[in-house]
Amino acid sequence: MNKNTPVVEPAATPVTELVETTGHAGSEWLSRYSSSLMGVFGTPQRVLVRGAGCLVWDADGKEYLDLLGGIAVNALGHAHPFVTSVISSQLATLGHVSNFFTSPTQVALAEKLLELAKAPAGSKVFFSNSGTEANEAAFKLARRNTGGSAAKRTKIIALEGAFHGRTMGALALTAKEAYRTPFEPLPGGVVHIPFGDIAALEAAVDETVAAVFLEPIQGEAGVRPLPLGYLKAARDATSKAGALLILDEVQTGIGRTGKWLASEDAGIVPDAITLAKGLGGGFPIGALITFGQQTSSLLSAGQHGTTFGGNPVATAAALATLHALESQNVLANVKAVGEHLRSALAAIPGVTEVRGEGLLIGFDLDAEVAPAVVQAALDAGFIVNSPGPRTIRLAPPLILTTALADTFLAAFPAILQAAKDAQ
Ligand SMILES: *Cc1c(COP(=O)(O)O)cnc(C)c1O
Repeated sequence: MNKNTPVVEPAATPVTELVETTGHAGSEWLSRYSSSLMGVFGTPQRVLVRGAGCLVWDADGKEYLDLLGGIAVNALGHAHPFVTSVISSQLATLGHVSNFFTSPTQVALAEKLLELAKAPAGSKVFFSNSGTEANEAAFKLARRNTGGSAAKRTKIIALEGAFHGRTMGALALTAKEAYRTPFEPLPGGVVHIPFGDIAALEAAVDETVAAVFLEPIQGEAGVRPLPLGYLKAARDATSKAGALLILDEVQTGIGRTGKWLASEDAGIVPDAITLAKGLGGGFPIGALITFGQQTSSLLSAGQHGTTFGGNPVATAAALATLHALESQNVLANVKAVGEHLRSALAAIPGVTEVRGEGLLIGFDLDAEVAPAVVQAALDAGFIVNSPGPRTIRLAPPLILTTALADTFLAAFPAILQAAKDAQ
């Protein structure tokens, strides 16, 4: 070995060597933010500097109970010791190699995901860095499906209210006009049909359709579960027409609903599933799982790729997350705390409907005050989200305890009143 090979000091160097993370007020960071960051996210609600478990702290020292988990991402909360140590040790061993090479963590994670998805022989995995990229890969997969005939199929069915991401292909699948219209023309052929309407689905799926994209529970639309029997009807209609059934479990997957996959008890085998958000426990990673040999060979060598996707650190993070979820029996906690939250929320005056499964919860209010509720909740030390004018979404760390959930339930009536008073 060349004796000039640079040696990285094994001792941890704190990031404070590079950036002073303490001693600056949130207002100062926000003014620097608005001078340097693109305005696509609006003004950030707070400047967060530290997290531990279900709690985070802002630059002014205020503590919050995180009931959003980085939008269904921080499955094990913040700074989970096991995940942190696995990521650190993988990074100190081998950080990135490109897809000209593979690494043990990449292979082991693919095998683990196929096992969790109960995927049949011949099933395969493609790794990406995000949810939208997982759906881009699925979009390209759909473009390669001809249903066994020679004629190319370009039509894709998605649902009203659908959210599949922000890159051009995934955006074409996303329904919201405000997201789509400024960027048209989008990749063509996507038709949005009414949400949850089995007759509309059966009428739309014919032998010109390449694929149907569905979220088992629409997250961004306010936590709207598909009606019972819908996935089965979609499987029957797509099988008959030779179309792919592609499930977007980017938000609902990896234990979020108290099951590994929200679709796992629907009694169907889909053609593909996309994953991201919770998969890396906070580290960016996405995945496309294709079911069976035929669908898994639709994209051949050279037809898709990524520089970062499936790198050793990201796949180690996901392996660590899955291991911790399994060994600490976290899915049982998700079911129990989720049920407790939903039944308690339903009993609070001013809450008109509660939806969701496990720790993906949406609830409606009796007035269009949801954005004001988000603000009042922050003031009271709780992070929640409003996907609609009268809807609040909770997607907390899957390790949330009943005792912590109860602090929010106790505070919520006053938060709602404060929001109404502020209107
Ligand atoms: C968040 C989300 C996406 C997009 O994921 P990104 O990582 O933000 O690109 C896609 N589909 C669903 C259902 C999502 O919730």
